[in-house]
Amino acid sequence: MSRGQFPIAKNIKQYRNKIGITQDQLASLSGVGYNVLIKLESGATENPTIETVVKIAKGLKISIDDLLVPEKNQNILVCTTCKKEYSPSKAISQCTCGGILTLIHNSSFPIDEIRKRKQTMWRYREALPIMQDKYIISFDESITPLTKIMLGRHEVFVKQDHLFSSGSYKDRGASVLVSKALELGVNRVSEDSLMQDSSGSASNAVVSYCAHANITCDLYTPMEIDLDKLTQMKFFGAKIHTIKQKDKHNLQVAQSEYYANHSWNPYFLHGTKTFAFEICEQLGWKSPDTIILPAGNGTLLLGTYIGFLELLNAGVVSKMPKIIGIQSVQCAPLYFAYKKNLSEISSIDKKFTLAQGLAIEKPIRGKETLDAVRSTNGQFIVVTDHEIKAALAEMLRIGFYIEPTSAATIAGVKKYVAEAKPDEIIVSAFTGNGLGSIQKIAKLLNA
Ligand SMILES: [Zn+2]
Repeated sequence: MSRGQFPIAKNIKQYRNKIGITQDQLASLSGVGYNVLIKLESGATENPTIETVVKIAKGLKISIDDLLVPEKNQNILVCTTCKKEYSPSKAISQCTCGGILTLIHNSSFPIDEIRKRKQTMWRYREALPIMQDKYIISFDESITPLTKIMLGRHEVFVKQDHLFSSGSYKDRGASVLVSKALELGVNRVSEDSLMQDSSGSASNAVVSYCAHANITCDLYTPMEIDLDKLTQMKFFGAKIHTIKQKDKHNLQVAQSEYYANHSWNPYFLHGTKTFAFEICEQLGWKSPDTIILPAGNGTLLLGTYIGFLELLNAGVVSKMPKIIGIQSVQCAPLYFAYKKNLSEISSIDKKFTLAQGLAIEKPIRGKETLDAVRSTNGQFIVVTDHEIKAALAEMLRIGFYIEPTSAATIAGVKKYVAEAKPDEIIVSAFTGNGLGSIQKIAKLLNA
């Protein structure tokens, strides 16, 4: 069932008062989608009549308010596997079939209004899927600088996302995710760092926003997580649960608490998409030709893709930039799937790399990332540890204190620009701050 098929929604609204569904019922019985109602109507293939829908809703004591979701809330959660739809008023991060959820949001961009607003990622308010302003959790994140840097023989725009409060672009995702948790009435979330980068920067971001929102955060983390980050998260009030290996515990956690893992939770990507909005505005409401980003779990890359898709759909920009994903040659499942023209990620042998944040053997949203890059006529590029080290040293020499994982993307940019057109407008990012990796950087560069 596509989102466009809600022709009777307006009429249903007119009927709502007549059928006498109470406010309590509306509040407690949300989450049943229009497609479910159709299935209930004895296998009907066409839209049911208003009378039938009202009868079914009353008979099952469910809220027909969900039928109005696209009109009222303008967003809906859809399973990427079985296509089941859920109301955004449900506190879920995963489909009942085990599939990954994606959020479809009808964004708009009132540019004249946006220009008058505060310089934070929340200035794109109509595009962010939080219903009420009172639930927004934000540190008044600044719009990050888009700085021109010579890389090779090409001048590239680099967005300085290492300047966020927790030290990485992940604050974008955490701000929207934690705001949504608060809006859903959640007072306890769980974040694990098993399925994400071992540097733990996503956990760090989510935990700091939870602290700001006064939400308890249970953190399930492997024993080898960086001690400095662990200490910081403890001070933020996270409850740390140390576990040894991937197990089913993650999903059990997901059922009893709100699962805030940045790869599973669809709201995270609707925070990272602000990266695209900012680039667009900073370039005079235009798309660049090419965007080069890290592809570990792909949360910045996918958010950027969603962001430009929304800008395109809203008519703000006229083209989708080519998106290029960078991986370490030591752990490159997306690159190999791309090269072999596969539709899914196959298993690979992961080896040690300096870019630990990119070393994800099986990204949760790997297929989505692959599809996104392909649909923009982009590509994946791999870099070696030697190239990462050289790029890190080069960035430090010109005054940018970034972490090694962040330098991998810059190494990839340097490879790409060797073949780029002279007038190609290219954007990349500094994704993480080096202050969280001082010892590692010193050891690496023999300081
Ligand atoms: Zn499903």
